Amino acid sequence: MHRIAVVEKDLCKPKNCSLECIAFCPLNRDGGKCITLSNEADRSKAIAVIDEDICNGCGICVKKCPFEAITIINIAEELEERKVHQYGQNAFRLYNIPVPKSSTVVGLLGRNGIGKSTVLNIIAGLLKPNLGRYDDEPSWDEVIEHFKGTAVKEHLKAVAEKRIRVAMKPQQVYLIAKVFNGTGKELLARYDESGYGEHYAKRLGLHESLDRYVNELSGGELQRLAVAVAASKDADLYLFDEPSSYNDVYQRLEVARVINEIAGKGKSVMIVEHDLTMLDYLSDYMHILYGEPGAYGIVSDVMSTNTAINEFLQGYISSINVRFRDRAFRFDSATSGEDLIMEEVVTEYSRIEKGYPGFRLVADAAMVRKGEVVGIVGANALGKTTLMRMIAGIDRPDAGAFKINSRISYKPQYLEQDYEYDVRTLLSEAYGRSIEGSSAEPLIIEPLRLRKMYDKTVKNLSGGELQKVAIAACLLRDADIYAMDEPSAFLDVEDRITIARFIQRFVKGQGRSAIIVDHDMHMVDMVADTLIVFTGTPGKEGYATGTLNKREGMNLFLKGLDITLRRDEESNRPRINKMHSRLDRMQKEKGIYYI
Ligand code: SF4
Repeated sequence: MHRIAVVEKDLCKPKNCSLECIAFCPLNRDGGKCITLSNEADRSKAIAVIDEDICNGCGICVKKCPFEAITIINIAEELEERKVHQYGQNAFRLYNIPVPKSSTVVGLLGRNGIGKSTVLNIIAGLLKPNLGRYDDEPSWDEVIEHFKGTAVKEHLKAVAEKRIRVAMKPQQVYLIAKVFNGTGKELLARYDESGYGEHYAKRLGLHESLDRYVNELSGGELQRLAVAVAASKDADLYLFDEPSSYNDVYQRLEVARVINEIAGKGKSVMIVEHDLTMLDYLSDYMHILYGEPGAYGIVSDVMSTNTAINEFLQGYISSINVRFRDRAFRFDSATSGEDLIMEEVVTEYSRIEKGYPGFRLVADAAMVRKGEVVGIVGANALGKTTLMRMIAGIDRPDAGAFKINSRISYKPQYLEQDYEYDVRTLLSEAYGRSIEGSSAEPLIIEPLRLRKMYDKTVKNLSGGELQKVAIAACLLRDADIYAMDEPSAFLDVEDRITIARFIQRFVKGQGRSAIIVDHDMHMVDMVADTLIVFTGTPGKEGYATGTLNKREGMNLFLKGLDITLRRDEESNRPRINKMHSRLDRMQKEKGIYYI
């Protein structure tokens, strides 16, 4: 066995602890130097350093560290030979690397922090793999020699010799606005090598946004602009890192069609995505990335899309007999959960209307009951926030009336990160008193695994971490209805499933209600008991149905999208039928868009 020891730099704070790891490590106690400090003279600048060659993997330091900064993992010795990259001593490392294929969309599926972006950066030639030699970087010749006899060798050789042109859609699209000071049209023109830039932009619904400055665009517009920019480059290999975030289902499907079209032109495409419906719809083949987030990631062999998603949900890769999660995820049937909703109504309104200059919303009569999770589906800009503001009593309808208003705790779609303090302070503010030692810790903090983040500064959180903190902050406020706009954004598949189940349990267990707006169909399928469907013309007029049962609501919604869903036999997850396939035609004839 080989030891992987990872020390999280922003959690390890020797000046604030009693060096418990060093004091209790049995090898140190025997006079050895298994754990040392990186800077003996100044503990404020030091972190723990673990010698992986002598560590016996007992895990005592993991339990003793008060900040949960240490991870120790025992892995098979043979895996060490497949190490592709390591960021430093006691830092993240990646094993194996996938190979792009022409005319094919290859999907990467794995948790946040498991190395997907590292993979894309290596494949794109932005990061030279160091084979684990972080203090003695190998030359390109050594790297290529290391991979001799494998398919990846040819790709890395082409990258090293700059024979391969790469277009990449980065994950953090908001950074574009920080580095480019111009309009969408100007950005597109700068990178449009194929002449298709404006064509893609129009298809992605950006025709009215292109004349605006990039820093004025919404997250969804920025996301689609970044997809159009990458798609319009004349490249051999196209990499898309999370192209779905901020987009509604209509926009996600169009992004998927654009990406498929690129592969149809004979190009190689690789995609990282956490929306399972889209990943399933888009990918021809897939790799699972498994391991321990932040510590190590292993890229599996290539698999069919269906096998990869099902094995990911199972937590078990059958071809190599590896279990990487101790529990399997299974989707419930379309109607489960409804029997646990109580009779008591927490909000109720008649048919209401609300208008603003240039926009009008009409919502059919509806009510929300205790214990109920109402899912909201539909395109962006149809008035979902307007409806929520009226439910909360902040705005009044122009016509119609509310019988009951409720206290709403709201989590917005776009999260504010400009907060100087740590997570503990933010959560305590939301809770109204100190979160530490409170009854909310076992109820909310522990299931969402947030205790470890208490000392982190909110500004430095990753997108996924910030989302989980925002969900917890929303639930910590005392309210009747917890309203969350796109809670799935930036969460990985595992966290999406965990959060969806947690919200269901919390709402039913605490006798509260929730309204969840989301564009990830798996998330909606898991979290919602009933649905409100929004239709209309984005930005001009919106129409909201009353609360429909999930089957009826999904059917209506999917009919508007002209897509049908079936259930996977093994995992029971919803899957989009191929357009015009036998099943698609048959379900449409029967009017069954959702099963
Ligand atoms: Fe020491 Fe390794 Fe045990 Fe940690 S896991 S206490 S470093 S021997």
